[in-house]
Amino acid sequence: MGIKIDLQRCVGCGSCIPICPVGVLSLIDMKARLREGCTSCGDCVDICTFRAIELEEQPAEKKDS
Ligand code: SF4
Ligand code: SF4
Repeated sequence: MGIKIDLQRCVGCGSCIPICPVGVLSLIDMKARLREGCTSCGDCVDICTFRAIELEEQPAEKKDS
């Protein structure tokens, strides 16, 4: 769960930093970095025009029947 930042694609524009409602994104050495606490809201994924952020797939819930 969470997001994945592709550091090759990230250009360090900083657009995603203020968008995060829980403030877990920061810019270090011109690359977006993620701290713990991401709620997977997806806001940063939408804002990044360089497609450097993507939501990680959540593992499917197991159902016992
Ligand atoms: S919006 Fe995208 S390119 Fe810009 S800093 Fe964030 S991850 Fe990097
Ligand atoms: S998915 Fe939402 S909570 Fe997680 S880093 Fe992006 S904006 Fe922040």
